[in-house]
Amino acid sequence: KVRVRFAPSPTGPLHIGGVRTALFNYLFAKKNGGEFILRIEDTDQNRYVKGAEQYIIDSLNWCGIGFDEGPGKEGKFGPYRQSERKHLYKKYADDLIESGNAYYAFDSAESLDEHRKQHEAEGKTFIYNWHNRLKLNNSLSLTKEEVDAKLAANEAFVIRFKSPENQKLELKDIIRGTINIDTNVLDDKVLFKSDGMPTYHLANIVDDHLMEITHVIRGEEWLPSLALHKQLYDAFGWQAPEFAHLPLIMKPVGKGKLSKRDGEKLGFPVFPLSWNESVGYKEEGYFPEAVVNFLALLGWNPGTEQELFSLEELIKEFSLERVNKSGARFDPDKTKWYNTQYLQAKSDAEIASLFMPVVLSHVKESHKLATTETVERLVGLLKERATFVHDIWDLADYFYIAPTSYAEKAVKKQWKEGTKDILNQLVFVLDSITDFSSTKTETIVKQWITDKELSFGKVMPPFRLVLVGDMKGPHVFDIIEILGKEETITRIKTAIE
Ligand code: GLU
Repeated sequence: KVRVRFAPSPTGPLHIGGVRTALFNYLFAKKNGGEFILRIEDTDQNRYVKGAEQYIIDSLNWCGIGFDEGPGKEGKFGPYRQSERKHLYKKYADDLIESGNAYYAFDSAESLDEHRKQHEAEGKTFIYNWHNRLKLNNSLSLTKEEVDAKLAANEAFVIRFKSPENQKLELKDIIRGTINIDTNVLDDKVLFKSDGMPTYHLANIVDDHLMEITHVIRGEEWLPSLALHKQLYDAFGWQAPEFAHLPLIMKPVGKGKLSKRDGEKLGFPVFPLSWNESVGYKEEGYFPEAVVNFLALLGWNPGTEQELFSLEELIKEFSLERVNKSGARFDPDKTKWYNTQYLQAKSDAEIASLFMPVVLSHVKESHKLATTETVERLVGLLKERATFVHDIWDLADYFYIAPTSYAEKAVKKQWKEGTKDILNQLVFVLDSITDFSSTKTETIVKQWITDKELSFGKVMPPFRLVLVGDMKGPHVFDIIEILGKEETITRIKTAIE
């Protein structure tokens, strides 16, 4: 049975790249009838940020990426927070020492620093490995008595993996194929520290094994750890899961990975929800479906021209074979395009229910146009020009708040000699109409224009200008139907008096 996991460290807000990793894991699990696990990797207490775990969970929930097991959703492989599993890891480090795959090292930070500097002075980089390890202060260079004495004296230690010399590793990655590594370039990574905590590498491998993870799907930044991880599985005598390293998400322009700063500079969010001062996709007005859709296509392609996918469709279509090797460029305009598509696809009633709170943040509930019926009507009339629900306010504001000034350029162009007189007559025409529907007023006003041999160009633009304050907006007769007779006449009078 397929079991995959998303294993974030709670060191801050979940970045959009993290959500994509979670999404791809989720899609792969669901596609294969498997399970998706959330595991919190919080062994590094120095980098722990309060609230980050909840933020991760809230973000996944908002996106609709549900996990089958995880904190607060215990399954038989729990607990799912590494800090609650810390009693578990030492034994595995000991096993590796016993089997000769790991060793104690007692080097102080200062002495390691010294080695580093010495190497640098000779133009070399210091690597704690097969070449250097016997010259260092560890259980491979000390006698058994010396090691025991240090341990008995509670001297600070780390346990390091003993990376073999002169071995050729053949690593497999579902997306990247075979990767060949010479073990001589590897260092002896720290697996366990004397504070009783495992490092990421040890805890990650032990937990993936104990939680019966079948596929590890994670970001490309973990590719350099693959060699060690494969070696660890081999050292334990465990069957390694399959690996898939997802391409990096790149900045919209230039080189490099997408970062928070890119978002700030270009004014688009990089987090799903807001975090401290930052604004997230949710608060910006994105629909979670749109975020999920654009994330799915950052690194994966369906092999067709189709761009719009619901979560269900993604589950059906997804495969790791269709994940690209090369970095995926983040495109904020495309991201907006996705939201526009999802907005346009929603019913007027649904958008209206989301737009009503926006209206009520500007006007009182008692406003004549703050009814469900009118709001729905406005949505139908205006939504095609909106990307976000809140955009509709900028398109609708003059319905609710009569113009107090008129666009200067428009006034210059449309307000001519005689305009005032024409509008005065128009008031009388409108006042005589009892059925103020769009079609009715249009017929009557047009008839009046023809009868009086006025031109449309002399009547309609100034009419729009006094209603809207500018030359924008939908069909004028639709506008006045919504405003109603009284308000329409008031707006004309205000402008000509
Ligand atoms: N805790 C690691 C992270 O923060 C997990 C990496 C992995 O998936 O192995 O991304």
